[in-house]
Amino acid sequence: LIGKADVERSVLDWLATHEADTIELLRELIRQPSVPGMEYGAQQVVLRQLTDLGLDAVCEEVDVATVSALPGYSETGRGYANRPSVVGRWPGTGGGRSLILSSHIDVVPVESCSGWTYDPWRGKIVGGRLYGRGACDDKPGIVLNLAVLRALRELGVRLRGDVEVQSVPDEEGGGNATLALCASGHRADAALFVDGVRCTAVTGFMGQSWFRATVRGAPAGGVDLERGVNPIPLAGKLIDALYRLEDEMNETLDVPYGGVERPVRFNVGQIHAGAWSNSVPARCVFEGQINFLPCRELAWAQDQVRQAIADVVANDPWLHDHPPEIRFVGVQADGCHDTSTPELLCVLGAAHKDVWGTEMVIRDIQGFIDTRHYLTHGIPSVCYGPLGANAHGVDEYLELDTLVPTAQAIALFVMRWCGLAL
Ligand SMILES: [Zn+2]
Repeated sequence: LIGKADVERSVLDWLATHEADTIELLRELIRQPSVPGMEYGAQQVVLRQLTDLGLDAVCEEVDVATVSALPGYSETGRGYANRPSVVGRWPGTGGGRSLILSSHIDVVPVESCSGWTYDPWRGKIVGGRLYGRGACDDKPGIVLNLAVLRALRELGVRLRGDVEVQSVPDEEGGGNATLALCASGHRADAALFVDGVRCTAVTGFMGQSWFRATVRGAPAGGVDLERGVNPIPLAGKLIDALYRLEDEMNETLDVPYGGVERPVRFNVGQIHAGAWSNSVPARCVFEGQINFLPCRELAWAQDQVRQAIADVVANDPWLHDHPPEIRFVGVQADGCHDTSTPELLCVLGAAHKDVWGTEMVIRDIQGFIDTRHYLTHGIPSVCYGPLGANAHGVDEYLELDTLVPTAQAIALFVMRWCGLAL
């Protein structure tokens, strides 16, 4: 007769002895440059893995006509052709709690490889760290969910509750793929979103709004520069005003957020203008983002941005007559401080403690996560995952010795949440 503890022990052992396979799959996925819009190749790898596990695996496209009408939709300016979510279903024997195990396949672009110590698309291992774009955020999430499923399947473990594995595109710059899955009826009693959150549980996050400003000037050539109005310095005035808005929003906080003194961050991330050094450009386009506390709403944050720009426009004769166009393109996410998940956190925290021997830290972060969509659809959701650093930056890496313990904690959580059918 085999008991629950024996099954758990054999799953943990399996994950430890198969570490090399898990790392190899992670490196294979890092070699797929799945930046937003280019997730197809990596998703095919995931689809093959799920099919290989004998799961009912399907691709589900994002239906823009449906999701664009929903609260939580972000207009990204990118289409969704060849950007499917990959979903694998494992029905339970019955009587247990169901679970969505999710993670995102997309990674942010690499501006230039030149700043990197190692090729961002190779997955080189040096000194216990695996380097590459997505090495922390979030290829380990995909690989950990697959490893846990593989351990359970190969050992013949049966769960009472249904498990659905989701690998979603579009998390970094939109989040519409998860929204689409929620909208098309994917439901469970809980969702665990696995991402590189340093072996903690993330239940809260700030809101965020991305925007694009188009500033028009009066173009002129080198022979009559004085006839032109240059939109680049005008854009600079607007950008300065947005940095002042960041200061104001931080200075008016009643309480620090997540232990961070200045949690509100404005960033200008892209700027485009001109084609020739002694010509005045016709327009300057810049794109940026500002985040805001969960107690505020998206519409409020967007108003703050509009107002900061309007104040500059009112005091500049050219801008007054040629107001810049502001469009909220990219992530439009409300913040959240979730308190609907005590049972989920209790089971996950116990699993974490059994593996790590320490209490699981529960925290709020400044970034945004797709868990917001599960939560707004009534599905308790938390984000958990391994330790890495430099996500979105240069020399992104994963601490490899956190991979197996994180897989083990997730596996214990899955078995205890869904229930073992012994
Ligand atoms: Zn992520």
